Amino acid sequence: MTRVLPASAADGRHVVGILGGGQLARMLALAGAPLGLRFMVMDTADDACAGQCAPLLVGDFRDHAALADFGGRIDVATFDFENVPAESARWLAERGPVFPNPGALAIAQDRMAEKSLFVELGIAVPPFADVPTRAALDDAVAAIGMPCILKTRRLGYDGKGQHRIRERADVDAAWDALGAQAGTVGLILETFVAFEREFSVVAVRGHDGEFHAWPLTENWHVDGVLSLSLAPAQVDPRTAAAAVAHAHALAERLDYVGVFALELFCHDGQLLANELAPRVHNSGHWTIEGAETSQFENHLRAVLGLPLGATASIGHACMLNWIGALPSPASLLSTAGAHWHDYGKSPRDGRKVGHATLRADSAAALAAMLHQAGLALDRGDQVAPALARLSAGE
Ligand code: AMP
Repeated sequence: MTRVLPASAADGRHVVGILGGGQLARMLALAGAPLGLRFMVMDTADDACAGQCAPLLVGDFRDHAALADFGGRIDVATFDFENVPAESARWLAERGPVFPNPGALAIAQDRMAEKSLFVELGIAVPPFADVPTRAALDDAVAAIGMPCILKTRRLGYDGKGQHRIRERADVDAAWDALGAQAGTVGLILETFVAFEREFSVVAVRGHDGEFHAWPLTENWHVDGVLSLSLAPAQVDPRTAAAAVAHAHALAERLDYVGVFALELFCHDGQLLANELAPRVHNSGHWTIEGAETSQFENHLRAVLGLPLGATASIGHACMLNWIGALPSPASLLSTAGAHWHDYGKSPRDGRKVGHATLRADSAAALAAMLHQAGLALDRGDQVAPALARLSAGE
């Protein structure tokens, strides 16, 4: 039985509180408008871009007075980024509904806890080791071998807080770069996987355990940051089914409510879990125009206890991330099937400032659109991997 949360607003409308006011919160607010939802976003920055689409409360997540103010204005709280302190999520959860639950958030915040859970559930992972000290790093490199990658256990994202170790001489450099964080956020060493492909499963689970996954997405990263996503991934049905089964097992084990993404490497035909993102995910942006129900709408439905929408794709979609600055939209705005998303942020190196989704009825039509877009936007390099995949018809 679906349990719909009671609404507190005088007119019976729900107010959804979002911790974090970036583009994910912004797209949640935009998706919630047709459902008649209201929003309250909390962020530490007064120019958080979701504040252009929803009321913004500026405050520190560790400040209980600010949290109490936020909690008093909302019916349910959720997150737009996973690095909200787990203690703050727990504090809110003692006073009102919070989804996903803070326990799931805490596991997803710590690469060691997350990988240990993958192992417990029989989900293959690259070999890994905890690295509390410099001596432990030497031991871990000896045990795991090179190439490997040293990462912070907590607070890393988009390839930040990571250092590759290709040869012996890199071990000192890796420790110089990250060693100071061994005693604070912790460090983990893992095999550097020479993967052939990267996939993500974006999935949603409701209060009653109803579970849906969008078609598997193939992703390409540049310097650890997502550049391009293609969906549905051109992959054999057994691989896709195995990926979804892993996501389902995780969602059940965590009693997860809402949307999440499971990032996977594919190496020698085997899926290896990289990480779990406990929120709507960049690799699911294509669902706004490319699926029956977007990840943003289904996340809202899930946290409110509403029935979930179908996750089937509508044709084929490719999402291009705009990092640092937006290209000129003119050529895409006049292309049927092209959809532009400007997050309202000022340009900055490495910053996700927008994306575009190209949608077409067939893989061949998408390839033609992508080719055109690459030329028109001078983004030939960015679209190349998806074009190669589509033309190989894999
Ligand atoms: P993460 O922050 O762990 O999601 O890493 C961002 C991206 O860096 C991944 O999507 C991969 O492209 C790359 N990466 C991270 N960890 C590894 C690894 N162990 N082996 C190979 N590539 C990795």
